[in-house]
Parts: sequence; structure tokens; C-alpha cells
Amino acid sequence: MGEKAGRRRPGPLAGLLVALVVAAGCLGGGLDQGEPEQPGPRRSGQPASPGADSTRADGTTSVAEFKQDFSDAVGIAERYWTDRFRESGKQFQPIRRVVPYTRSGEVSCGGEGLPRNNAVYCSAGDFIAYDVNWSVGAFRQVGDAFLFYLLGHEYAHGVQVRLGIRYNFTIQQELQADCMAGAYIGDNVRSGTLTLAEGDLDEFREGLLAVGDDPNQPWFAEGSHGTAEQRTDSFFRGYENSLDACGLG
Ligand SMILES: [Zn+2]
Repeated sequence: MGEKAGRRRPGPLAGLLVALVVAAGCLGGGLDQGEPEQPGPRRSGQPASPGADSTRADGTTSVAEFKQDFSDAVGIAERYWTDRFRESGKQFQPIRRVVPYTRSGEVSCGGEGLPRNNAVYCSAGDFIAYDVNWSVGAFRQVGDAFLFYLLGHEYAHGVQVRLGIRYNFTIQQELQADCMAGAYIGDNVRSGTLTLAEGDLDEFREGLLAVGDDPNQPWFAEGSHGTAEQRTDSFFRGYENSLDACGLG
């Protein structure tokens, strides 16, 4: 887990996807006060990229390209949620910023340094932070679906905060975020904003399910984030049926 980007060897997908699921079971919104120590570029106001269908073959994406793609995904998320809120007669305030990092503790949330190999939404500072090297590694293995899932899931936590959604159990919060990430991707594919490479979602689904079968993953033993099956089901429920499937009320 956490291999640096650039190596493709048989079999690491499961381990990598464990990391993905851990990231998805991110710190979620449960952290209190704090600001990132290193503010990233301000996100709001950047127009969504119309060219986010620039699907690349796995293994050819540089860190710089990934950051750009991630930024595009953020722009699409901003537009997506702005439109959804507008439909409900509400105004959407985009998540304040997105901060890539490479070192443990480089970015803090609520006074706690973020570890490597992770991605989180930090409600304290209203920002998303992600380990860019780890993310690129996962992206190279899994493909575009990973990038949009990762961003879509973390962005969804910010939306939950804005909607005042707070469940008693983490698993509900996480599965809903998975559903919202699926809706974000599915709706944008349906509208033609996004084009995923053929097989991306199948690969994604298989990867997630493979994780569930691995008995050596302590994260699932706790059962607080949902099994791989539950998470995959939630994601695809949103992907196929849009936000109606996500219980946003
Ligand atoms: Zn999460």
C-alpha cells in the first residue's frame, strides 16, 4: 500500500484500493476548529473545465497532470452542486479550497497533522486535502473513476455540512457520501460533461469488491465505514439513479 506512482505490478490493486477505501472513510467532517497550515490555492471562482473528458491511459499521468485533472473535477463538482442547490432555491457556497500535499503533517486539520496516503474533507477549515503521490498511484491503477470518486466523495462531505446532515453513525455519513459521489459522476456522464474510459467503472467495482474479500484489512473489521459491497452498492445507486437515491431529503 502506498507505493509511489509509476510501478505497475500484478496484484497490488487490492492493497491500493484498501487505501482508497480508507481515504473514503476519511476524517469526514468530524474534526473541530482549525485551519490548514499551508493554504492551497483558492478554489472558488474558477470556472469548471469544459474539457474534463480528457481521459488518459493509465500509467501516463504525471503528478502535474493529476493535479490539473483533480482541479477540473473540483470545478465540475462546484458547478454540479451549485446547480442542484439552485434547483432547491438555495445558494451553494463552494468548498473553500483544495490542498494537495506530499508529506505527513504538512497540512493540519483541527490541529491534527494529516497522514500520508489519505484524503479528507476538513470541516474545520472547509477544505479538501489529499496526498497527491498516493492519489496519482491509485489513479494510475484504477483509472479516471478513482479521481472522480475520491473528489466526489470528499466534496460530498462538504455538501453534507452545508445541508446540515449529520447522522448518528459514521457508516450512514460515508455511504451517503459514496452515493452522492456516484450521482455526481453519473449525472455528469449523462450530461456529457464527463466521459469515463470504457471499463473504468467495472474496474472500480471489481477493485472495491476485491478489497472486501481480503481478510487482512483491519479497517473493515470495525465495520464503521461499510463493507466493500455496501460502499459499492451505494456508489452505483447514486451513479445510476442520481441524488434521489441518496436520501438527502
Ligand atoms: Zn468519507
